[in-house]
Amino acid sequence: MKMKNFQKKKKLKKCWIKERTFDTVAEAEASILDQWSKHYTNHTENGRMVYYRCNKAKLRGPQCSISIYLLYHADHDKVTIYKTEAEHDHHVDKVRGIDENVKKCIEELYNDGIMKPKQIIRALQARKVKMPTCTQLNNYLVYYKKNKYGSHKISLGELGQWCENNQNIPTDENESFVVSYKILYNDEEYEDDEDVEDDGGNKFRIFISSVRLLGIISMSSHLCSDATYKGRGRITSQIGPLPNFN
Ligand SMILES: [Zn+2]
Repeated sequence: MKMKNFQKKKKLKKCWIKERTFDTVAEAEASILDQWSKHYTNHTENGRMVYYRCNKAKLRGPQCSISIYLLYHADHDKVTIYKTEAEHDHHVDKVRGIDENVKKCIEELYNDGIMKPKQIIRALQARKVKMPTCTQLNNYLVYYKKNKYGSHKISLGELGQWCENNQNIPTDENESFVVSYKILYNDEEYEDDEDVEDDGGNKFRIFISSVRLLGIISMSSHLCSDATYKGRGRITSQIGPLPNFN
C-alpha cells in the first residue's frame, strides 16, 4: 500500500514539456522510431495520448526517467510530442547486475576449466551465492573473455604479422611454430593451384606444427589432416597465444 502511494506521487511529479508539433501522423511517428517503444495509451477529450518509454531500458525492470507521449489532437490532424523534463538514466551496464563476489567466483571457476554457463550455474548453486540470471552470466562471460584474451577479431594483416613473428624454429621440440603460411588478398590470384576456384575473397593458408610432430610425419606413410577453430581457450595453454580464426 505504501509502495503504491509512493509510485503515485512520483508519477504526479512528472513535468511534461511540449517538444514539437507535426503536421502529419506519419512525420510525428517517424521522428520517434529509433529510441522509443510504445508503452500505453490514454483517451482524453483533447485526443488520444500514446505514451512511449525509452527503449534503452528493459520493459521488465526500472524504466528510464525520460518518457514521451504523442497527442493525436481530437479536433485536427496535427500531432504534438510532449517530453518529461528529465535526463536519460537508463541502465546501460548489463554487467552491473552481478554481485562483485559472485563475479570473482565465476572468474575462479572459469580459470579452473569450468567454462560452460550451465556448469558455472551448477557450481554457483553449490556455493549458495546470489544467483545471476543466465543472460547476466552469458553477458559477463563475454565481457570477461574479451578482457582476458583481447578482441576475437584479427585482420589478415595482423595474422600475417603473427605468422612472421612465430616462424623461428624453437629449441623445445614440443613448442609450436609456423612452418609456412600464405595470405592472398582478393586482387591476387593463385599461381600454383589451377584447380582452385577463385571466388574473389581474401584467403589464407597457415601451417603450424612442432619439431616433434614433424619428426613423426617423416616416419609416417599416411597423414590424417584436421583443423580446429574456435578452440582458442583450450589451444592457448598448449601452443601459446593463438589468434581465433572466425
Ligand atoms: Zn533512457
